[in-house]
Amino acid sequence: MWKYKTIRAVFTGLFVLSVFLVAYLHITSVWPKVFLVSLICVWFTYIIVGVFRMRAQVFLPSVCSLAIPGKKNILLTFDDGPHPQITPLILDTLAAHKAKAVFFCIGKKLALYPQLAARMVAEGHIIANHSYNHSNLIGMYSTQRVVEEIRQTEAEIERITPSLKLYRPPFGVTNPNIAKATSALNMKVIGWNTRSFDTVSRSGEKVLSRITANLKNGDIILFHDTQEVTSTILADFLLFVRNKGFTFDIDSLK
Ligand SMILES: [Zn+2]
Repeated sequence: MWKYKTIRAVFTGLFVLSVFLVAYLHITSVWPKVFLVSLICVWFTYIIVGVFRMRAQVFLPSVCSLAIPGKKNILLTFDDGPHPQITPLILDTLAAHKAKAVFFCIGKKLALYPQLAARMVAEGHIIANHSYNHSNLIGMYSTQRVVEEIRQTEAEIERITPSLKLYRPPFGVTNPNIAKATSALNMKVIGWNTRSFDTVSRSGEKVLSRITANLKNGDIILFHDTQEVTSTILADFLLFVRNKGFTFDIDSLK
């Protein structure tokens, strides 16, 4: 796929050309104007898709599925913790089913609950970086501010275990500043291809049916270890998936 910079250069060229046709040549035909408006619409659609859909890989490369050849493996990921009540329940269930997961932790919560992060590591899970503050406005941050968010969280992780330098942007939002920050810090960006929607759905049944509908080797599932509904359906989910012959291996990220 073409890189963002190439597409931006092509659009800039087309934009200048169409403005020139409309403004300076005084072409009476309506088509240059239609072309200009269409160009602007396509450009904004491209940017919006790029910002909110990490899998489109518009601004940076990201891992959104991780198939292990010859295996049926699913990568379980839990975002936004550690949470003092929910995370221990999630860890208990994972331990009971001998399943491993990646926890994308918020830096300031790692600072508050380092004992939970230590437990994650002691039980064989990976802790990874999900920014320090998880701000709603992180999409507006300068490169330097994103760098600080990632660095502060790396420092919290390093207090507990050597970091694997894995980063998941809050809300899956990416843009040129986030791309520059992750590249400068040499972070590997991890997305997902299956959302549980456990932050919006209160119905365990709905969450369960959504994530078990089309499971395949390499799926990366997005859960949150801050949601009660997740802790209530996790055991059923692990049993169902294991009965289908899947494993929950995280070694390919190590
Ligand atoms: Zn998050």
